[in-house]
Formats: sequence, structure tokens, C-alpha cells
Amino acid sequence: MGRIVSIGECMGELSETGAPGALSMGFAGDTLNTAFYLRQSLGPEWQVDYVTAVGTDGLSDRMLDFLNAEGIGTAHIRRLADKTIGLYYITLKEGERSFTYWRNDSAARRLASDPAAIVRALENSDVAYWSGITLAILPNQDRLALIEALGQFAGRGGTVVFDPNLRPRLWDNPETMRGWIHRAAAISDLCLPSFDDESTWFGDSDPIETAKRYHAEGARRVIVKNGGGAVTFLETTDKTGVLSIPSVEHVVDTTAAGDSFNAGFLAAELSGKSIEDAIAAGARLAAKVIGARGALVKDATAS
Ligand code: ADP
Repeated sequence: MGRIVSIGECMGELSETGAPGALSMGFAGDTLNTAFYLRQSLGPEWQVDYVTAVGTDGLSDRMLDFLNAEGIGTAHIRRLADKTIGLYYITLKEGERSFTYWRNDSAARRLASDPAAIVRALENSDVAYWSGITLAILPNQDRLALIEALGQFAGRGGTVVFDPNLRPRLWDNPETMRGWIHRAAAISDLCLPSFDDESTWFGDSDPIETAKRYHAEGARRVIVKNGGGAVTFLETTDKTGVLSIPSVEHVVDTTAAGDSFNAGFLAAELSGKSIEDAIAAGARLAAKVIGARGALVKDATAS
């Protein structure tokens, strides 16, 4: 039996349904989206756990019920009596979605405030997945504690997988973001950036430059996504490659494209596939997810 933990923030999602005054309620967040697709893609020989902090209120209960119903383990989710989960609201106007967030004081911002709890969550795990958003929402000392815990996990043979998911609005300034993202990449076995963000915030001129930069910072392997463009990988300094992906005719909603790609890739690698086949699996899963509305698309496996 293998175990993957995904660490980060899951939020409540309120969206307008189109009917006057009616809202629908769901749950999503980058690392949760990946956990959801990992659970869908992996067999029962893998346990997928989510690691975060929530409140003790009814809304937090609903989130845990949702995770449990999806088969995602909740044993390492801390419950904080004085906090609750973050929320976001999706407004639909002429088919375009815009997002309003209430997350500045969410329980998840304290997910690493008890480093011993993180260490316990990583015990008996094979893979830890996290992102630049996980890091962005934490106070500085908790960022350090989380990086240290994951670095020790890697030192014991655990696999650390990191998606930089650059979100400058969650950081004090872009320079601070860049510094922490590189510290996170330095302890990661696999880094999964998206070229669009990387070219904007690091000035990379092409995806191989992104891959080489993260590798130079210490990430062992790098896979650079690029929307509908080719995926670039760096396995070792001597082994790099570029794989084109099938085009998707009708893109409905690109929410969670990168998150689902990561899950499809990881699930395929963990089942023994080559890096090329695993990239193809990631792209197949992402293609299904962007062909439907919403972050979490049921029954969207890569096969
Ligand atoms: P993010 O969602 O993190 O910004 P990308 O936009 O780079 O990530 O997309 C992640 C993956 O989703 C891509 O590698 C690809 O497999 C798939 N994807 C995204 N947009 C498209 C598209 N327009 N056509 C086909 N595949 C896409």
C-alpha cells in the first residue's frame, strides 16, 4: 500500500447557477483538485490524504464530509476552534467567470503552525505534493517549518512534488515570491511549473529555460506545462525532451488544467510508466477536465 499526502488549502466555492438567487456550493483549491484527480486515477493500493487546517464549525464539517465521500483521507486535517475555511464566489457574466475571495484569515493559513503535526502527516507516506499557493498563504516561520519538514521527508527517501503555481497577489511582492518558490523547488524531486506564469514572473524566454532554472535551484526533475503547447521535460542535465500534446477542440473551462495534469502524470508514473507516457496521461486527463465546467470533473480518468 502506498500513500500520497497533498498539502494546502481547500476552499468553499459558491457559484451562481443562473436561477435568480440560487447558488451552488462546492469545494476546490489547487492541491485539493490534484488530490481529487489522484484519487480518481490511482487504484486502491494507494491512499490519498489531504493535509490542511479547518474550523470546528458546520461548514468545515461539510468540507470533511465531502473529502471523505470522495475517498480522500482526512486523518491529518487539524481542526482550529477559532477559524473557519476560506470561501470564494464565482460570478457569471456573459459566460465569463470572475472570482471574489474571502481567505485572508482562513484556518488553512495555520496548516503548518504545529510542525510536529506535519511531521506526523508525512510519516509512512511515499509522496508529498504541495504548491506555491500552499507556501504563499503561510506566515514566514511556518513556511520555514514546512520546507524543513519536507526536506527531512525527502532526506528519508520520500518524493516531494511541487507545482510553483505563481500567484503574486498572495505574496507581499514578486521578489519575495521568487525567493520562496526557489527555496521550495530546492527540496523537490519533481517540479511542475506552467510556462505562462514562469515567463511572466521569472522572465524565462522558453520552457527549457524554466526547466534549467528550477534544476539549477535544486529540483531533480522538471516538467514544464504550456497550455495547449508542447510539454518540456528535464530528467537529468543530459536528458531533456519536448512532447507535443493532442489539441482539444472545444475548451469549456481551463480551471484545474494544471492540477489535473499533475495528478494524471503522477498516477501514471507511480504505476510504472515512462516519463513520456506519464506526460501523455497527464495531458489526456487535463484535456477531459478542460472539456467540462468546474474544477472537479467526475469520472475524468486519463485512460
Ligand atoms: P495551468 O492550469 O497551471 O495554467 P497550463 O495552462 O499550462 O496549466 O495547462 C496545463 C495542462 O493542461 C497542459 O499541459 C495541457 O495538457 C492541458 N491544457 C491546457 N490548456 C490546453 C489547451 N488549450 N489545449 C489542450 N490542452 C490544454
